[in-house]
Amino acid sequence: MKGHRNDWLLAVGVLVLAAALWFLLRPGGEGGWVVVTVDGTEVGRYALEEERTVTIGEEDYNVLEITGGRAAVTEANCGDHTCVHTGWISREGETIVCLPHRLVVRIEGASGGLDAVAR
Ligand SMILES: [Zn+2]
Repeated sequence: MKGHRNDWLLAVGVLVLAAALWFLLRPGGEGGWVVVTVDGTEVGRYALEEERTVTIGEEDYNVLEITGGRAAVTEANCGDHTCVHTGWISREGETIVCLPHRLVVRIEGASGGLDAVAR
């Protein structure tokens, strides 16, 4: 009888742990930010879970797309297109750098983790 009660407690413990992990690990759960800087100056800050497309700059432009909890530079008129080729970023500390335009897109405050699997 005693053993049964322990099993029940263990099951509840596992469930609680699973729920906590799900909260921590689900993509976009922590609501990260996409921070855009040009020449070291912050020019924009957008919520990762808000879908949007922003064009940064005019003559020298980068098109930043945010969708599904990740961000990418999908278009730019820089010479090397390294920023475009970097692809999608979604985890804390990940960056897209456009050297010709001195542009840096950086993820801040995202929990991330599972997105690596979804790529
Ligand atoms: Zn570029």
